[in-house]
Amino acid sequence: MKIPERIKIGNRLVRVKFSREPFNDDAYGWYDANNFTILLSSRDQDSNPTTIAETFWHELMHAINDFNRFSIEMQREMDDKDTPETDAYKFEEMITERTAKTLLQVLQDNPDLIKATN
Ligand SMILES: [Zn+2]
Repeated sequence: MKIPERIKIGNRLVRVKFSREPFNDDAYGWYDANNFTILLSSRDQDSNPTTIAETFWHELMHAINDFNRFSIEMQREMDDKDTPETDAYKFEEMITERTAKTLLQVLQDNPDLIKATN
């Protein structure tokens, strides 16, 4: 498994860094949305390859969701006066549509990402 040092997400360049400093809530990683940086723990007790791979892909999804600005869109959907079922359906469609498009772009523009899956 090889975690890439940088990933293109749309027009963003997201960096990936390892850190020995403990994160909040003893997490294995976090996405710093202000600096477009994925931070992964390199502490010995967190360095199981499966943990690193799962944490990397988790934080990559946060980076993709941040690029797609879902938190703002969700608020906008909630402000529309639809029923909760309609809101949920529309929101799910929007997440799926944008996540699929962005994930396709990310995989096309970062072919080395496949090395972070095994
Ligand atoms: Zn998370």
